[in-house]
Amino acid sequence: MIIFLLGEDRAYLSWLAHHRNGFVVDWLRKPTGKRPMLHRATCATIRSSPAKNTHWTTGRHVKVCALGLDELVQWARDESGAAPDPCEVCQPTDDEASAPVGDRHLTKLGKEIVEYVVEAAVIHLDGHDQDYRLTVGDIARYLDKTAKQVTSGLTRLADDGYIRLSGKPERDGGLPDDCRVLPTSDALRTLPAFTAMPRPAIEAELEGLSDEE
Ligand SMILES: [Zn+2]
Repeated sequence: MIIFLLGEDRAYLSWLAHHRNGFVVDWLRKPTGKRPMLHRATCATIRSSPAKNTHWTTGRHVKVCALGLDELVQWARDESGAAPDPCEVCQPTDDEASAPVGDRHLTKLGKEIVEYVVEAAVIHLDGHDQDYRLTVGDIARYLDKTAKQVTSGLTRLADDGYIRLSGKPERDGGLPDDCRVLPTSDALRTLPAFTAMPRPAIEAELEGLSDEE
């Protein structure tokens, strides 16, 4: 468990980026009578830019991060005397399997890309007779754009945990054409067929996509 106090925005955001399965308790430091709020690490309300002149961890807000839900709930109980309120946006106490993936607001383009990547992956997972070789170039061509034009969209999807990219943007700011694009289990779980499937089982299926080089 990590407690982020004054002036630790960068460390806090870095923790969120590296612990997508984690949870965060957001609490006003001074006694306000407000109960701490519990979020998933992926919740938009604790990731998005705060209002002007405010910061994530400065001011009166304190953020406590952990991979385990139980220890955070216990911390909130100990510190505030009450169990934290679950955030309505990310519904952190909902069962993993039934939790909506859609709390990481996809743009129209993002949705289109995720659907395309997932479709390509499912065709491969069903058939096993063709190599999965979806690249940045394929997606750009599908959208009638250049690799450079789809780079920011793809990078954002990767940051949000929907896809994995095998390369980094080049000096001109675009991803290489032959950079491979793989869906994550969260991407597959946008399909009803995978929503109820346990994450490890989906991960195991996805292994088959990345093994083939
Ligand atoms: Zn939330």
